[in-house]
Amino acid sequence: MGNQDVVTESTQGEQKQESLNLLESTQVVIKEALEKLGYQESMFELLKEPLRVLTVRIPVRMDNGEVKVFTGYRAQHNDAVGPTKGGIRFHPEVTEDEVKALSIWMSLKAGIVDLPYGGGKGGIICDPREMSFRELERLSRGYVRAISQLVGPTKDIPAPDVFTNSQIMAWMMDEYSRIREFDSPGFITGKPIALGGSHGRETATAKGVTICIREAAKRRNIDVKGARVVIQGFGNAGSYLAKFMHDAGAKVVGISDAYGALHDPNGLDIDYLLDRRDSFGTVTKLFNNTITNKELFELDCDILVPAAIENQITAANAHNIKAQIVVEAANGPTTLEATKILTERGILLVPDVLASAGGVTVSYFEWVQNNQGYYWTEEEVEAKLEQVMVRSFENVYSLSQTRRVDMRLSAYMVGARKMAEASRFRGWV
Ligand code: GLU
Repeated sequence: MGNQDVVTESTQGEQKQESLNLLESTQVVIKEALEKLGYQESMFELLKEPLRVLTVRIPVRMDNGEVKVFTGYRAQHNDAVGPTKGGIRFHPEVTEDEVKALSIWMSLKAGIVDLPYGGGKGGIICDPREMSFRELERLSRGYVRAISQLVGPTKDIPAPDVFTNSQIMAWMMDEYSRIREFDSPGFITGKPIALGGSHGRETATAKGVTICIREAAKRRNIDVKGARVVIQGFGNAGSYLAKFMHDAGAKVVGISDAYGALHDPNGLDIDYLLDRRDSFGTVTKLFNNTITNKELFELDCDILVPAAIENQITAANAHNIKAQIVVEAANGPTTLEATKILTERGILLVPDVLASAGGVTVSYFEWVQNNQGYYWTEEEVEAKLEQVMVRSFENVYSLSQTRRVDMRLSAYMVGARKMAEASRFRGWV
C-alpha cells in the first residue's frame, strides 16, 4: 500500500514525479526534526530504518483443501524506550516498506503521547474480505507461530490495524498462550473485553481524533456544534468518529468507503449508516446516488478527516480542499507535497502521529491493566485518554508556534526527542 509513484500536475503546470514512498517521506521529516533538535547525522542513521524486520511465509489450508502461502512482516523500529508496540494489518497491498514506515510512525506516536514503548508494526498480504472466518483464524494463528520468537508482552506487543479486529487479536493471543504454555493477555491489545480487553479500546482512536478536532477548532475559533465535517473511510476510526461528531452537534455532510462516497449538505443519517455498515466499513453499496472519493475531498466543509489509507491528499487535490482544518485519523493520508500546499494555504493540518494516537494510548492502558490484573471502568479510561490527548495536542501545537513549523514537523520533533534521548543515554549513538 502507498508504495507507488504517481505522476501529478505541478503548480507550474509541468509534469513531475510526486514520490509517494512512505518510508522515504517519513525519513525526510525525521531528518528535519532531528536537525532542528540539534542531533548529529548518526542519530538519523539509527532512526531512519527499523532495528529489525522479519519476513515470514505462512502456509494456510484453505476451505477448498488447497494450501495457500501468504507473506507477512513484523518490523521493530526502536526499543530504546521500551518494548515495541503497534498493530497488524491484513491488506492485499501491504509492502515491506509500508510496514517499516508504519513502525517508525508508531515510535513517534508513543513519543508524542509519552508511552514507555518504541514502535512496531506487522502486516500480511491478503484480502480478508475474500476469506472465510476459519481461513482467517488459520492465517492469524500461523502468523503468530511464525513471529513468536520475536514478540511477547515485554518485547513487542501487537494490536489491531486495517482490517483486523478483536476476534483476530483473540485467536492470536490464544495461539501465543499455547506456544508459551501460560495465559498471556499482555501479549496483544485490542482483545475482546471477555479476554482481558480494555473498556474504551474499540472507540479509542475515534475518541482521540474527536479530542484533536475539538482542540484544533478552538485554535481556529470554529464551533464544532454546527460545523460541517467530511470523513473519508467508515472503518473503526471513521465510523465511530462520525458518531461522535454527530453527537457533538456537528453536521457530517460526507462519508465514504472503498467503493464510493455519500453526500448530504444537510447532514447524513449517521445512526442509520452505522447500523447498515458491514465489518469492513462498507455501506455505500446500498445507495445509488453516490459520489466518488475524489469528489468527497473537494466538498464544501469546515473539517476534513481522512480516516482510511495512505496517500489520499496529494499535490493533485490539495489545492481543491475547502476545509479549514484537516485532521489525519488514518496513517499517512497526506503526502509531503500536499502537506506544504495545505500549510501554505493556511489550513491547519493535525498529523496522523498525533491525531490517531488515541488507539495506542488505550492499548497501553489495556497492557497496564493486564499486567496488574486490575481492571478500570470506561469512565476511568476515558478521563485518562482525555488528559493524554489534550496535553499532547498542546505540546505539539505550541512547539509548532514557537518554532514556526507545521504541526507535522513539530509532532515529529516531540515524538523523536524521547527515543533519541533514550538511545543516547544507552550509549547507542
Ligand atoms: N494500529 C493502531 C495505530 O496505528 C493501534 C496500535 C496499538 O494499539 O498498538 O496506531
